[in-house]
Amino acid sequence: METVVGRLAPSPSGEMHLGNAFSALLAWLGARSAGGRVLLRLEDLDRPRCPAKYAYGVMEDLAWLGLDWDNDPVWQSQRDDFYAQQIQALADQGLVYPCYCSRKELHAVTEASAPHGRAPVYAGRCRDLTAAQREALEAQGRRPALRARAPERVYRLTDGLQGPFAADLAREVGDFILRRSDGLYAYQLAVVADDGAMGVNQVVRGRDLLASAPQQLWLQDALGLPHPAYYHVPLLLAPDGRRLSKREGDLSLRALGRDHRPEEIVGRLAFWAGLQPEPRPVTPQALLPRFSWDQVRREDIPAAL
Ligand SMILES: [Zn+2]
Repeated sequence: METVVGRLAPSPSGEMHLGNAFSALLAWLGARSAGGRVLLRLEDLDRPRCPAKYAYGVMEDLAWLGLDWDNDPVWQSQRDDFYAQQIQALADQGLVYPCYCSRKELHAVTEASAPHGRAPVYAGRCRDLTAAQREALEAQGRRPALRARAPERVYRLTDGLQGPFAADLAREVGDFILRRSDGLYAYQLAVVADDGAMGVNQVVRGRDLLASAPQQLWLQDALGLPHPAYYHVPLLLAPDGRRLSKREGDLSLRALGRDHRPEEIVGRLAFWAGLQPEPRPVTPQALLPRFSWDQVRREDIPAAL
């Protein structure tokens, strides 16, 4: 059987909080319980929002929880050349075009509804510009974003936790951004290219990202990469019902670590996940022998300590 290769892929735009720790614990358990490898990737594409100090803080927090990894960390901020090659590979197949729309223009024309919390479907304004039209726009000093040409096709997956999911790429997702006009590479491109390059075959992440899985399947096909197994885990909810986020500063691991041992935090996360009947302290290692995806909850979880 193929060795499971999972990954921890935090976006270090602030201090790690309980919601990040919850996904990370399940990603680690999913790979380690199968005797697999765990790789660490720092998703710091948005450099201004992800200074290195946060990345080092996240690594300390993961280690504090008792989660380890097998590689030298991969930093997305250092992989621009690789992402450029991947876009070239797509462009060689006619799957990329420059989009000159400003934010204002996009808001004016994209009134289409956006199911599953997706970005609005791009209306295709720049899809069929002629070379002369492009030159005229460049001459005005417009710098284009690069968009993928979404195919007229339904992509389906069976998520390990959430079950069957499908999207009609052209109608529901539309032509999506691969590189922003300011040069930042898009999450969709980087995550697919990096998972492929790192040999990741098990992707465990928050349920909010399930909506982007179909376009990632298409990118994997276009780049000649295999499809990983997906497990989209529930989200932890703040007392007001919103998704727990970095705004809840008191739920950062740093703040919690002042009054709690890591085993207490892991015990609470494991309880929320459905892995133990009460929130008693436990190490990640101790959860391994009885871990099974069948036990893991599928619905979002109100998180109160
Ligand atoms: Zn455009």
